[in-house]
Amino acid sequence: MRLDKKNDVMTQDEIFDCYRKAGEIHRKLIEESREKVKKGVGVYEFADYIDKRTIELGGLSAFPVNISLNEEAAHSTASFEDERKFEKDVIKIDIGVHVKGYIADGAITIDLSGKYSDLVKASEEALNAAIDVVKAGVSTTKIGETIEDTIQGLGFEPVRNLMGHGVDKYIAHAEPSIPNCRMKYDATLVENQVIAIEPFATDGEGFVVDGKFCEIYSQVKNKPTRIKFIREILEHIKTYNGLPFAARWLPQNKTDMALNQLLKEGTITAYPVLIEASGGIVSQAEHTLIVTEDGCEVTTR
Ligand code: MN
Ligand code: MN
Repeated sequence: MRLDKKNDVMTQDEIFDCYRKAGEIHRKLIEESREKVKKGVGVYEFADYIDKRTIELGGLSAFPVNISLNEEAAHSTASFEDERKFEKDVIKIDIGVHVKGYIADGAITIDLSGKYSDLVKASEEALNAAIDVVKAGVSTTKIGETIEDTIQGLGFEPVRNLMGHGVDKYIAHAEPSIPNCRMKYDATLVENQVIAIEPFATDGEGFVVDGKFCEIYSQVKNKPTRIKFIREILEHIKTYNGLPFAARWLPQNKTDMALNQLLKEGTITAYPVLIEASGGIVSQAEHTLIVTEDGCEVTTR
C-alpha cells in the first residue's frame, strides 16, 4: 500500500488495475494510429485526434503524443499552427496514457517511405528480445547488451544516449534507466517494478543531439508569478501534475512569451526535439511492463 497524492490509499492490485487500464487504452490508440497515419494526413489533425481519443477512452495524456519524423528520434509533436502533412516519412508515434497517474508508455514506427522495413524490424526485434530476458533479479546491463546485440546483428546501431526507464505515479521517467547498449549502468530489476523499454535503431552514428524546435515542456518548480497572462498559463500548466505538456494545449494568449519567462524563472523545463547527430534515420519500439518473479506482464500489448 502507498499513499496517493490526494491521500487516498490504493492497494497494489488497484494500482496494477490502473496500469492495465492505461495499457488497454494505449493499445487501442496504437491500433488507431496504424489506421490514421497515412500520406497527406495533417500532423496537427493526428495529434488532436490522439488527444481527444485518449479522454474518450477514459484516460488522460501522460505526455503529448510524440510524432517524430525521419532523423528526429523523439520529443517532436504538433505545434498550434502546424501545417505539416505526413509524406514518405519514417514516423515514430510515442503515446503516453495515464489512469489516476499510473502510466502506459509505448511507441511504434510507421514507415510510409517503404524503404526502411529492416530498420523498423531492428527496434521491434530488440524490444522483443529485451522483454524475453526481463524478470526479477535481472540486471539492466543484460537488457542493454541484448538490445545492442540484436540491433547490430541486423546491421544497425542503437541510439546510445536514449534510454528506457522506470515508471511511477505521475512520473513518466523514474529510476532505473534501462540502457539501449553495453554501458556501465547496473540496476537490478525487482518484482512488481513498472518499467518502459524503448530501443531506438538507426542507420546513422547512434547518438542524438538537441534540435532547435521545442513544443514539449514540464513544470519542475512551484513559483508564483504576478503577471496576469503568465499566471493564467501557469494555472493551466499545474493541471498536468508535473507531467509533460504541449504548447498547443495552453491558452493561446502570448504563449511563447509566457513559456520563455517561465523557462527563465526555472518554473518549467524544455524538451527540445532530439535529432540523430549524423542525420541517420531512426526507428523506435516501446512497451511498458510489470516485472514478475519469472518474467513480466506487458501492459501495452
Ligand atoms: Mn515513450
Ligand atoms: Mn518511454
